[in-house]
Amino acid sequence: MQVVVIGAGPAGLMCAEVLSGAGHSVAVYDRMPSPARKFLMAGRGGLNLTHSEPFERFVSRYGKAAARLRPSLEAFTPGDLRAWADGLGAESFVGSSGRVFPKAMKASPLLRAWLQRLTDRGVSLHLRQDWLGWDDEKLVFEQEKRFTIQADAVILALGGASWPRLGGDGGWKTILEAEGVPVKPFQPSNVGFNTGWTQLFTERHAGTPLKTIALTFGGKTVRGEVMLTRHGVEGGAIYALSAALRDAIVRHGHADLVIDLRPDLNAGQVISKLGRASPKDSLSNRLRKALGLTPTAIALMHETGATDVKAVTVRLTGVQGLDRAISSAGGIALEAVSDSFELKALPGVYAVGEMLDWEAPTGGYLLQACFSTAVMAARAIANSAQA
Ligand SMILES: Cc1cc2nc3c(=O)[nH]c(=O)nc-3n(C[C@H](O)[C@H](O)[C@H](O)COP(=O)(O)OP(=O)(O)OC[C@H]3O[C@@H](n4cnc5c(N)ncnc54)[C@H](O)[C@@H]3O)c2cc1C
Repeated sequence: MQVVVIGAGPAGLMCAEVLSGAGHSVAVYDRMPSPARKFLMAGRGGLNLTHSEPFERFVSRYGKAAARLRPSLEAFTPGDLRAWADGLGAESFVGSSGRVFPKAMKASPLLRAWLQRLTDRGVSLHLRQDWLGWDDEKLVFEQEKRFTIQADAVILALGGASWPRLGGDGGWKTILEAEGVPVKPFQPSNVGFNTGWTQLFTERHAGTPLKTIALTFGGKTVRGEVMLTRHGVEGGAIYALSAALRDAIVRHGHADLVIDLRPDLNAGQVISKLGRASPKDSLSNRLRKALGLTPTAIALMHETGATDVKAVTVRLTGVQGLDRAISSAGGIALEAVSDSFELKALPGVYAVGEMLDWEAPTGGYLLQACFSTAVMAARAIANSAQA
């Protein structure tokens, strides 16, 4: 069986892996001059492949899409992903937060070994080929001039719409909508937010992290770290709340994020520690000496007019754009695909990875779902060929 995979990111390459392993002929096409650019970019942050937490909690991270993604996550679990990476010589380890990384803390050695294995299995990789859609049954590509190809099965693995300079720009939305496939609008996910920092605060504190804090929004509290930026806030703890914060800003024009600067102390302990500080000291000095707050944390209290270290309210007024979002929400509506991610409007065409409408926080959940949906679709194609 001749299978064409369009998109050489982690999802597309995983499809090629499964299908070539089952003895099928696979050709992978990508518009960029080299494959998996976003995967390599993810490697700059250590390449958080997946997460080691209990499976049920893991599945719950996909929110509204959890039920639809569960079968694929069961078919290719976080444990399977680790075993696969280990098999490519990229031995993985569990970090203190439960996140899983390759020991090399980057993507390039794993990608190199993976591409070699695919080449050895006869997978052909066609780069700088821009997919434009269909002409009747044929796939239309462009590289200097247009050409068409035909395949027994097609897998689209074109990614979401964040970081478009890495290849995936969501341009496929128009193509698929024209074929009757419903696509939800893209929105930035795992993204920073704008605040109205004063110029003085920006000059002094942009680029500084607030560590070991807790953030609360919409009844959910997350511990972690926030990076203060020129325009606002970003970082892991923010990303974990980013879907709810984004939706609130879209609805109300703002979202009030509450920061606890000393989550390890209860209110009584804070009062008693401050009470023991010298009354001659300024408030800033008492906060520093009695509670160990950093100059940036103290400045944040001044900036926001907060009086309680456990409840510093920061008003977020805007969502930063898709250009720098780690991932995008939106994409092909999950009602428009079968359990194995075949497009109902286009039989024989499958869609996998971030182009489907699911979102999850950072923590390895993004790559895991890309790999799991890819395995699910590729196995379905391999099984249908056997039948
Ligand atoms: C800075 C950053 C850090 C990240 N870190 C992590 C992390 O640590 N852990 C984690 O789980 N996730 C992380 N992610 C997210 C993760 O990288 C993505 O979710 C994942 O790469 C999506 O995989 P994909 O295969 O679905 O799409 P992509 O990786 O986006 O691949 C899609 C491919 O399709 C190609 N393409 C698109 N349109 C066309 C077309 N018309 N014709 C031909 N080719 C086309 C693109 O060139 C691209 O190569 C990070 C993302 C970013 C931006």
